[in-house]
Amino acid sequence: MVFTVKDRCRVCYTCVRECPVKAIRIFNGQAEVIHERCIACGNCVKVCSQEAKVFLDTTQEVREMLNNDNKVIACVAPSFPAEFVDIPDYRTLVGMIRQLGFDRVLEVGFGADMVSKKYNGYFDNSKKPLISSDCPAIVYYIEHYHPDLVASLAPIASPMVATARIARKKYGAGSMTVFIGPCIAKKAESLEIDEVITFRELRKMFLEAGITPEGAEPSEFDPPLASKGAIFPVSRGLLQSVDKTDDVCEGNIVVAEGKENFREAIKEFECGHLKNNHLELLSCEGCIMGPGMTRDGQKFSRRTMISDYVKNKLDTEDKAVWEQNVSEFIGLDFSEKFQPKDRRNILPHKEEIDKVLLAMGKAKPEDHLNCGACGYDTCIEHAIAIINGLAETEMCLPYTIERLHLSIQELNRSNEDLASTRLALSHSEKLASMGQLSAGIAHELNNPLGVITMYSNILLEETREDDPIRDDLKLIVEQTNRCKSIVGGLLNFARKNQVRRTETNMEDFCKKSLESVVNENGVQLGFTSDMKDPYALIDQEQMMQVLTNLEKNALEAMPKGGHLNIRLGDTDGEVIIAISDTGGGISKENMDKIFTPFFTTKGIGKGTGLGLPLVYGIVKMHRGQIHFDSNDDPAAGATGTTFTISLPRT
Ligand code: ADP
Ligand code: MG
Repeated sequence: MVFTVKDRCRVCYTCVRECPVKAIRIFNGQAEVIHERCIACGNCVKVCSQEAKVFLDTTQEVREMLNNDNKVIACVAPSFPAEFVDIPDYRTLVGMIRQLGFDRVLEVGFGADMVSKKYNGYFDNSKKPLISSDCPAIVYYIEHYHPDLVASLAPIASPMVATARIARKKYGAGSMTVFIGPCIAKKAESLEIDEVITFRELRKMFLEAGITPEGAEPSEFDPPLASKGAIFPVSRGLLQSVDKTDDVCEGNIVVAEGKENFREAIKEFECGHLKNNHLELLSCEGCIMGPGMTRDGQKFSRRTMISDYVKNKLDTEDKAVWEQNVSEFIGLDFSEKFQPKDRRNILPHKEEIDKVLLAMGKAKPEDHLNCGACGYDTCIEHAIAIINGLAETEMCLPYTIERLHLSIQELNRSNEDLASTRLALSHSEKLASMGQLSAGIAHELNNPLGVITMYSNILLEETREDDPIRDDLKLIVEQTNRCKSIVGGLLNFARKNQVRRTETNMEDFCKKSLESVVNENGVQLGFTSDMKDPYALIDQEQMMQVLTNLEKNALEAMPKGGHLNIRLGDTDGEVIIAISDTGGGISKENMDKIFTPFFTTKGIGKGTGLGLPLVYGIVKMHRGQIHFDSNDDPAAGATGTTFTISLPRT
């Protein structure tokens, strides 16, 4: 009877929260009504701000019924004065309904009169307490969710069904009946009524047919006219119409209306706390607040409309005619039968519930906030709904917010990672392009340099020892060799060959590197290691270049002697090599330049500025890290420089 217009649903869970039987499934972020579970109370229709919940529109069926050659009787629910506040004289409304093509217009209020008489008898005679059966949503609720209480439902027809029976008796068994009222649950209540439309649908039919109050010819309802039964749609209406005053039956009849109260009352009734009480239950706060009424109506002004109408009715009614009508129909069968139709969910095992709760970060009872944001009253109910396929974990707001926070943190972290990766990338990109350029230059220079070396050496050999030109030739040979070593360095730097790793004992390897350095200034060499496992996979040839370059720089920083130390350490996955000297250190302004190709502070003819870029490239190719600490301030007692390399063991 109720449907979701998916495009309009914004998944706010309000319908879940308002649904007294949780007949709404959230699946893939969409809310849908589960028809087998729905009791058609229309709460979801009333609360959905997006108007995404709609009920079955049957105006077309009614129109067809009226167009065909049927005798059609309109049965108007007694709540009509609360709806049609814009039509002060009810006779105008009756005239408008006739204009639509209805042959007769009856008051369901008379059906209520008859039904009240039946209740009166039951309340007086019945030994066992009863639940009133006039609200179809309550009847569905009991049939589906409290099947054991079906036997307690008063076996009496609703005023609507009673009116249909009266109409057939009075106007012929072949006549068709259309109930017009505030309720959508009525649409499926009984096969004895041919169609049901709401007041909202009636307004739509007026609009489409161009029927207005001004154009209508006022007329009275067709007989039998209602009396006190017209008060039926307001709560305690049944009591007032059964002629029982509050003081007589206080404590004997419990009236509960609205989705919280009726469930509470049924629960207490089921527990036996309301042993000697009859229950009068309404799913809405009186039929006047039904989902088939125009939205935004005010409950208390609506009540006044009903009581004004009834007051006026009682003042003007012909009591004798009413009595006569009652005696005419009292012999009719107004009984009804109800069947249990159990739709209760099976309760999952505790372990299963705990598992789902844990997945939502609810390990301890104090994690159960029971905030209701998901639409369920408690976290446990939400978990059960998840197990039953009705809900999703994402509906838990605290859990989703927590996850959002984590995602944001994650995102920030990866942004930071990205920034440092970019920096490293731009650095190594620069190095790579420098490498390509220098490789090109080096190759071009290599051949002419070879020619110069060869010819200058030939010339030197052929020149006599006392020839004054010999010193010049010597200088040419010397400087050409220097050029060759620069070109060699460039080629080395540009070398992009892959890392060929072999298993290496790092302790032996580093000791060996120290043996090959040229130590002219009497620097003291030291080596210590606290490696738990000295083995690692490295490209020995390249790594040797790293060590010798760093050692060379260290020695060059200590022209007057000092200490050069290699210290080895490790973790499970990494090897750490620290090479430190007690030299003059690196000045602050040079710190971010030393890895740049061709940067040197060593004067013309001494440094090439290619050592550290080469070191950096090789370490990176080993997927390692290199950093340094340096202090060049003599006032602070310049402590020298330490380069630390960490390499993955494999
Ligand atoms: P080069 O040794 O040819 O100058 P490098 O690339 O090896 O080129 O080094 C670049 C610069 O970094 C050096 O000129 C020097 O200023 C500085 N440097 C490198 N290692 C040290 C060190 N251990 N102590 C002081 N300065 C250093
Ligand atoms: Mg160097």
